[in-house]
Parts: sequence; structure tokens; C-alpha cells
Amino acid sequence: MTEKPSPLEPLDETWERALCVVAHPDDMEFGAAAAVARWTGQGKSVVYCMVTSGEAGIDGLDPDACRELREAEQVASARVVGVDVVDFLGQADGVLEYGVALRGVIAAEVRRHRPDIVITGNFRDTWGGRNLNQADHIAVGRAVVDAVRDAGNRWVFADQLGGADGLEPWGGVREVWAFGSPEATHAVDTTATFDAGVESLQAHAAYIDGLGWENWDPREFLEGMARATGARLGVTFAAPFEVFPMGWGE
Ligand SMILES: [Zn+2]
Repeated sequence: MTEKPSPLEPLDETWERALCVVAHPDDMEFGAAAAVARWTGQGKSVVYCMVTSGEAGIDGLDPDACRELREAEQVASARVVGVDVVDFLGQADGVLEYGVALRGVIAAEVRRHRPDIVITGNFRDTWGGRNLNQADHIAVGRAVVDAVRDAGNRWVFADQLGGADGLEPWGGVREVWAFGSPEATHAVDTTATFDAGVESLQAHAAYIDGLGWENWDPREFLEGMARATGARLGVTFAAPFEVFPMGWGE
């Protein structure tokens, strides 16, 4: 007997600027790129921030060569969905640690871009069922929610403020959204932009090739997830998000 999946609420789309902070190149493309294509198509501004360059992601390739390749693939992949700014924070791939240092580099990004919404990947322990999440994803997601609060407090990471960068506190983030979370509460219709999402994932050609997954088809993979989520939103395809309100009182 299968339980009927619970319905999802439509995401708020009344915002103008989003900052996406994820651990690795390809993270956005494994769940959120079609949603980003929808939003940039509405005239919203979306910026990508990669905490690492995914340099430990290809078994047969030395990290120094890999870094350059994966950054280039990410920039191309972002462009497909209307994202022109991709920041790379240069933290070490595979060994990220949740803590004050990680919060600091992410808080600086929030202060730099002053977004209404911050998007990150699933940072729950699993993807639902027994598939374990990866340590970098968990560290980044936890640091993101804290860094959003840090960014608004002028006494936290105060050395970032008022310097040559012109950074000021930013407390304007309304919500943090974690895509692909098994605890998703909301979703967005990606039916019209699904193909752009597939193309964006396909831009990580060297990475996908390096995974060595035989007969793995990016379109089929994304379609399976998008269709299951779409059924919960009442549309053909959708992307799921867990929503964390960043104000008080909810
Ligand atoms: Zn990842």
C-alpha cells in the first residue's frame, strides 16, 4: 500500500533578488535549475555562489586541472538558465566544516548581493528513504541559515563592513529555501522551463562523464523527480523546496 504524497504549496514569487549558495558546481542543476530559468524569465535577478569548485569531484582528474574545468562548466551551465554572475568562494571540496569560518564567508556573500531570498540545497541527513546526504551539503546548508542572520548583525563579522568592498549589514532576507529536501513544504511549476534545466545539467559534460554511470540519462533522471513533485503541486513538472522563514513569529 502506498500512501498518497502530501500536497505542496506554491512558492512565493513576489521577490526580486535571489542568491543561491551551494557546495559544488552541479548542485543547482540536480534539482533547481529549471526553477531558476523560470525566475530569470520573469525578470528576477539570480546569482550563483559555489562554496567549493568541486575540484575533488572527478576520480581520474587532478584537483588543479579539475577546478578550472568545473568552474568553466558551471559558468556555462548558469548562463543556460539566465544567470550571469557565478562566485566561487574557493573553500576545499569534500572537507567543508560547519562553523564560524564557513558562516563568515557566506555572510560576506549575503552582504555583497543583498538578496530577498537565499536558496541552498537539501541539508537534511538523507534525501528521503535511506540515501544519505553528503557532508559538504549538510555543512553548507546549516551555515547558510546562520549566515543569513549573521549578515544582518553589524557586530558579527564586523571586520567585513565599511572597507574597500563597501559591505554593509543586510537583514533583508525573507526566507531560505532548500531544494530537494525530503521535508519539502513548497514547490514551483517548472513545466515551461524543464528543458532549460536539462540543458543546464548537460553543460556539466565532463563531470557527468567522470561519474562513470553507465546509461545515465540526465533528462530521464530530472523528469522522474519533476513529475513526482508536479503531481503534488497539481502541474506536470515542479521542483520541491523546504521553506525556512527568517523573521520571527512563524
Ligand atoms: Zn554536491
